[in-house]
Amino acid sequence: MLAIAVHPGTAHSMHLREDHPEPELDGVPDGRGVLVELVACGVDGTDREILLAEYGAPPEGDDYLVTGHENLGRVLEVGPRVRASIRPGGLVTATVRRPGSSLYDGIGMQDFTTDDVYYERGINLLHGFLTERYVDDERYMVPVPDALGERGVLLEPISIAEKAVRQAEEIQRRLRVWRPVRAAVCGAGPIGLLTALALVLRDVDVTCWSRSRPPAPESELVDALGARYVSSQDVSLEEAATAHGPFDLIVEATGFSPLAWEAALAVGKNGVVVLTSVTGGERTTEIDADRINNHLVLGNRVLVGIVNASREDFATGVADLVLAHTRFPGWLDRLLTTPIEGLERVEELAARLEDPGEAIKTFVRPAR
Ligand code: BGC
Ligand code: ZN
Repeated sequence: MLAIAVHPGTAHSMHLREDHPEPELDGVPDGRGVLVELVACGVDGTDREILLAEYGAPPEGDDYLVTGHENLGRVLEVGPRVRASIRPGGLVTATVRRPGSSLYDGIGMQDFTTDDVYYERGINLLHGFLTERYVDDERYMVPVPDALGERGVLLEPISIAEKAVRQAEEIQRRLRVWRPVRAAVCGAGPIGLLTALALVLRDVDVTCWSRSRPPAPESELVDALGARYVSSQDVSLEEAATAHGPFDLIVEATGFSPLAWEAALAVGKNGVVVLTSVTGGERTTEIDADRINNHLVLGNRVLVGIVNASREDFATGVADLVLAHTRFPGWLDRLLTTPIEGLERVEELAARLEDPGEAIKTFVRPAR
């Protein structure tokens, strides 16, 4: 069967394979297998890092890793013990991380694993979804309403936004009465835009702070949500906080790590900064250590990192995508800027990963 793969550790090794084994329903124990035909698979900064050999590892015994984690598929066949919400013909998305051995993994919280080694499909030690068909355990499958259609490919990315928002809510229970009124989102890539969406749907006043000067596709998407777009070329994050804050919540989603420290200085009293960027590089920066420390201490502020997402975050993501589809018709479609038609177009995919240009979301549609 066809699959897009890389040789982890070798930059620019993305290639098409014809020999990737057909997945088997019985490969999953106790009748919980779900066989899925890929409908669409998105790519992101993580895939870019894998392409550049900065990240990623193959499954034990293989010298290649099938990439792709932002999957959407149609169920072909289910095992006898699969729950009724997953049936042939329905759309599904598989989550990305699989349990290891820590206490958290044991209770379905593998996104909080304390193991040093983690297993993520299409990223680390497990093959991903850029294939014609895949099988997984129904426990890791989330049903996607048919009304969403191809837009369901945004479920995995929005699950990260949902985790960011939910973790902020969990942490802020310390305050008993926290209800975020104003928030800033740093970055207007898919994660930034989907975080802005999730917050707007919760009635939060959102300022999206990102690089491009308006008018740009991303500033127009932010406007369309009724949120505010501010260019980092015109206004610093602290200035944005003075003008549009105080920010109860800041979500950092730019991929540029020095902004963590700027966000620490821009968040309001009792507020929380959630960091979501995975930065595999070695960048260093000078920071206002005393000022940042004092700001955090004297204002009871929190700085927290989050990775991956739980089944619950995927479920909230489904609800928000459905809401978005009715409240902002066409908005999700405008994120899906760059389809790659067919797994065979692997070179076009690699070129897009290297230079996204104006693309917001690049995704592969396997040819039928
Ligand atoms: C994926 C997450 C994953 C993270 C770190 C992200 O791109 O969406 O599922 O946990 O990379 O590998
Ligand atoms: Zn991702």
